[in-house]
Amino acid sequence: MTLLLKATQVTRNFNVKASKTWFAKPRVLRAVNQISLELNSGQTLGLVGESGCGKSTLARMLIGLLPTSSGEITFAGQPIQAKRNAHWRAQRRDMQMVYQDPLAALDRRLKIFDQVQEPLVIQKIGDRAAQLAATREALESVGIGQDLYGRYPHELSGGQRQRVVMARALVLKPQLLVCDEPVSALDLSIQAQVINLLSQLQKSRNLAMLFISHDLRVVRHICDDVAVMYLGKIIEQGPANKILSNPAHPYTAALISAVSHPNGARGFHGTDSKLRKRILLTGEPPNPIDIPTGCAFHPRCPSVLARCKTQAPVKTMLDARHSVACHLHSGTAPLAYMPSANESLLIPPIEALA
Ligand code: SF4
Repeated sequence: MTLLLKATQVTRNFNVKASKTWFAKPRVLRAVNQISLELNSGQTLGLVGESGCGKSTLARMLIGLLPTSSGEITFAGQPIQAKRNAHWRAQRRDMQMVYQDPLAALDRRLKIFDQVQEPLVIQKIGDRAAQLAATREALESVGIGQDLYGRYPHELSGGQRQRVVMARALVLKPQLLVCDEPVSALDLSIQAQVINLLSQLQKSRNLAMLFISHDLRVVRHICDDVAVMYLGKIIEQGPANKILSNPAHPYTAALISAVSHPNGARGFHGTDSKLRKRILLTGEPPNPIDIPTGCAFHPRCPSVLARCKTQAPVKTMLDARHSVACHLHSGTAPLAYMPSANESLLIPPIEALA
């Protein structure tokens, strides 16, 4: 595996007006706060967290759609271009995005074959015959038959539309695919098909994939690694199987405990019935303009310690690949609610709900 994408201390600020009064001074909203991550070719990294935690902002910066406020991003060893020049366009060819809403991502006035061919025409790749052959190949690879080539997006089902969006992304043969909630707008029965197709394409093409989702079932199914975000920061990162079965951060545990099971149960599967219950977080996520001092999660944390209110936890490596930012792991305090070794969190497979 070779290192493809690297972000170092990436931050993105927005100036926003905190009140509607005419003379209100703009305040800084830190949507992404000093995030560092790496992604290898052929690897899938899941990015999870509540809405508004900065997942999509980070993804847009990683593929050069949004400039950073500070920090550095490199793709295949080259800095990501902020200016939209010829070099930016050449880089973007290798980084494609699959969006949440396929109908919004497609042009309703164009037939689907023309839409999939369009990136080749814009990037001036190959002659007309080569473009037609590449378009057919991309559509075939996502299971869209010739009978649908002449249709418009509104004439397709949700699952077919998302396949067309995937074909449009894959026709340029990218090295990196960023999927922003690619199945959240689809029916449950279609979700499993699209996820399996993505997984199969990712393996056959050795694609690196950044997979944004709030659905942990999907993340467990498709991702090698997972990064959990809270208010613009990564608070836990490591192998998906490990984190989703034995989380180290209270917020990750709360997210997992909210996953519903096919039998209606939630939360921990252990001998202690208390641990089977959902971990209910009190309060709403704080306003990102007024991030709490110390650990940003402390007003909602069920295991909060005195120092959490004043000291921000630093990243601690629990092993070579698993990191967490929480005082429970930086000192001698007990892991108040964590499952014991013979207990684990169970996330039902996505097929179970399909
Ligand atoms: Fe909870 Fe403290 Fe850990 Fe933050 S640092 S998650 S408040 S225990």
